[in-house]
Amino acid sequence: MDHHATTPCDPRVVEKMLLFFSEHFGNPASITHAHGRKASQAVEDARIAVARFFRVLPPEIYFTAGATESNNIALNLVHAGEHFITTAIEHKSIIVLAERLRKRGSDVTLLSPDHEGVIQPEVLRAAMRKETRLVSIEAANGEIGTIQPLAELAAICHQHKVLFHTDMTQAAGKIAVDLTNVDMASFSAHKIYGPKGIGALFVRRGRRVEPVVIGGGQERGIHAGTVNVPGVVGFGAAIQLRAEEMGEEAVRLAELRDSLRNLILAEIDGVSINGPRELRLPGNLNVSFDRIEADSLILAMKRFSLSSGSACSSGERGPSRVLKAIGAGDAAAIGSIRFGLGKSNTAEQITMLVDDLKRVVRKLREISAA
Ligand code: PMP
Repeated sequence: MDHHATTPCDPRVVEKMLLFFSEHFGNPASITHAHGRKASQAVEDARIAVARFFRVLPPEIYFTAGATESNNIALNLVHAGEHFITTAIEHKSIIVLAERLRKRGSDVTLLSPDHEGVIQPEVLRAAMRKETRLVSIEAANGEIGTIQPLAELAAICHQHKVLFHTDMTQAAGKIAVDLTNVDMASFSAHKIYGPKGIGALFVRRGRRVEPVVIGGGQERGIHAGTVNVPGVVGFGAAIQLRAEEMGEEAVRLAELRDSLRNLILAEIDGVSINGPRELRLPGNLNVSFDRIEADSLILAMKRFSLSSGSACSSGERGPSRVLKAIGAGDAAAIGSIRFGLGKSNTAEQITMLVDDLKRVVRKLREISAA
């Protein structure tokens, strides 16, 4: 129940990928022979599938090694002396890049969310300056599930003629997303039942970006190195499946999530729900348990894979940065569990989960009271 960290690769995706390991093994840059052209065609077909899903043009999609690299390329646009705006609740990759920009002489503003994790449009508007070069705001949060008012945020940037990047890793393929007024967007395949180590950066036609990895000029210079053909094919296949299945799946996951929330509230004392009531990712729930340390609870919940926050931040010590940013006290932030429901989770598992939670929470509270 930790599908925000990653998802299992769909067997239908794996099947499509397998052919491109050994049978169609060509290098897509080897256009002098059929092996290369076969691989190149598969990469371009995947590009069309990704572009179609986001209703953009195929040349606007660049394949990368994942959302982390896409974020690196996007933020690479900010130079010393320029102003960069992002938020306090971004993924670790953006936070670390923002720190580096600051060290290298850029001015960085971290916008604060409201208590539900929403970046209010007027907060962004107030932060805009003459020297603002780029704004980067995630489409949805992987810890508390908040879905941002992206259209309004993007429109503000457009009005100010400031570039707008959005990390769509947690949103794309789970909820409908719209790239109107978005200049750049980061995606990752492994969050949507595709393979790990492959993602994409959308770059609107006419915008120029600077690569992080340079070399052989693959992906029109934006991601050098021989293209990960099985990965790209897997990404294309995964996104096509999302196009077909996402709508129904979102309804089912939201129902499962609501039943998990209602059962926890009904059966366990001293709990509070973190994050938004309404505009929330379908499979996401974040709960604080009073007088409980999340780490102990996660360890004791042997039948389930749970986490307290982003896997990429699990090395960070102390209470969750995201929960603190929305005003949770230290105790609530330390005792919080993030549930990320996905395709294989069932109603029976929700019942089992709540039974285990009830038992483990009671036991841990007895120990801490003793
Ligand atoms: N951004 C967000 C919001 C994420 O959740 C993740 C994955 N945890 C990433 C970026 C990094 O993606 P990748 O693993 O593809 O580098």
